[in-house]
Amino acid sequence: MSTTASAFKESATQYCHDLDHRQRIKTALTGYEGKRDENKSRFRSWEEARQVAAEIKYEVINHLDKYLEQFVKNLEVRGVKVHWACDAKEARDIITGIARDSNVRSIIKSKSMTSEEIHLNEDLEKHGFDVFESDLGEFIVQLRNEPPYHLVFPSMHLTRYQISDTFVEKLGSERVTEPEDLTMIARRIMRQKFCTADMGVSGVNFGVAETGMISITENEGNARLTTSLPRIHVALMGIEKMLRRMDDLAIFLPMLATAGAGQALTCYNTLYGAAKLPGEVDGPEQFHVVLLDNGRTAVLADAEQRDSLHCIRCGACLNVCPIFRNVGGHSYGTVYGGPIGSVITPHLRGLQDWKHLSFASSLCGACSQACPVKIDLAHHLLQNRRNAVKEKPPFFEGLLWSGFSFVMQRPSMYRLGAKVGGVLQPLHDYVKGTALDPARGWTESRETPQIAKQTFTEWWKENRQ
Ligand code: SF4
Repeated sequence: MSTTASAFKESATQYCHDLDHRQRIKTALTGYEGKRDENKSRFRSWEEARQVAAEIKYEVINHLDKYLEQFVKNLEVRGVKVHWACDAKEARDIITGIARDSNVRSIIKSKSMTSEEIHLNEDLEKHGFDVFESDLGEFIVQLRNEPPYHLVFPSMHLTRYQISDTFVEKLGSERVTEPEDLTMIARRIMRQKFCTADMGVSGVNFGVAETGMISITENEGNARLTTSLPRIHVALMGIEKMLRRMDDLAIFLPMLATAGAGQALTCYNTLYGAAKLPGEVDGPEQFHVVLLDNGRTAVLADAEQRDSLHCIRCGACLNVCPIFRNVGGHSYGTVYGGPIGSVITPHLRGLQDWKHLSFASSLCGACSQACPVKIDLAHHLLQNRRNAVKEKPPFFEGLLWSGFSFVMQRPSMYRLGAKVGGVLQPLHDYVKGTALDPARGWTESRETPQIAKQTFTEWWKENRQ
């Protein structure tokens, strides 16, 4: 078992036994489900909307070269500096280089899972920059030195009492437990940071090729401050985030809000297309867009799994996944947890090291049903399992199946096997689940089928008359 697989197993086992944690996640997601279903009914037909969204993404991803070219051309016309990064290191180097060249000291960030993917904070801090998360959930997990728990709700695993403890310990604040009071503590600190930051780093929800603009959607207003107060704005965007036209936002913005947070529409939806233009008072002096590949073109080349690039990171598949709800977001050991994480992580970080995530699924298909862009996640998990075996067939499993096939094709051996199995079974029942049981990984949590005392052939011989 790889280290990532054993770490997953250990962490998942711990979280599964933590009933308080499971209850917290259940309570949080029950509230979300109610609001999501209410807001789905505002669509004339949610199913038709899913179909339209899936078709738009299909068109964009299958002509990504064309749309990216149009997007970049339109941005550059307005003086935006566009950078291409083929992997995480290149993206980090580009952003660190911008900061260094512009004498930046303090950096403020709005929520960006892509920046988590490339481990941007650690790198910027290593280079001596002061980095500060401005999304409330991200701010909390940053203080706790933890990765985000969920694509959309980074600190959903914490109670307000735990957040209060964190604020007392890390900020020396007074002990308050009302959410409004806790928010005011964070707000006071953030205001200071917004006013003093030299550079703002944001993610991108959608890139619009037709106009060369990025769309950022958020609930706290912190992304607007991150992108407009500092003198430099850097937007980090996965190349798959493209849309064709402004019109596409009319369906994607409400769908993202409903599937992601159970809202009709997110509070702030902003389009950015340039730095401060001559004569304008507000806005950054420099606007950079960093386009990140980091394994995405390899997924694009895979016709079978290309549609996993349709993902809009709404997190809906995590919310309905029975595995995620029990093992929690931190067990996955990777930035993208839940079903979509289990599908794309093997592409981004290596199939053999991350193939175990394909088995972190009951294959119930709830994720595929929930996905607003109709990615058949359950099917992709099966494909990952198949690809992992094809790429590196497991030796003992292969041996086992060859033996099984050999015996099944020879009736006399099958009969002998059944006899020997019948004799050994009481012995196995005796040691089942103990250290002496060679199959305890399997039998610990499963009933072993009993071998019948009499085979059907024997019964038939006896009773045929
Ligand atoms: S796979 Fe679908 S449901 Fe899951 S995060 Fe992406 S868009 Fe949302």
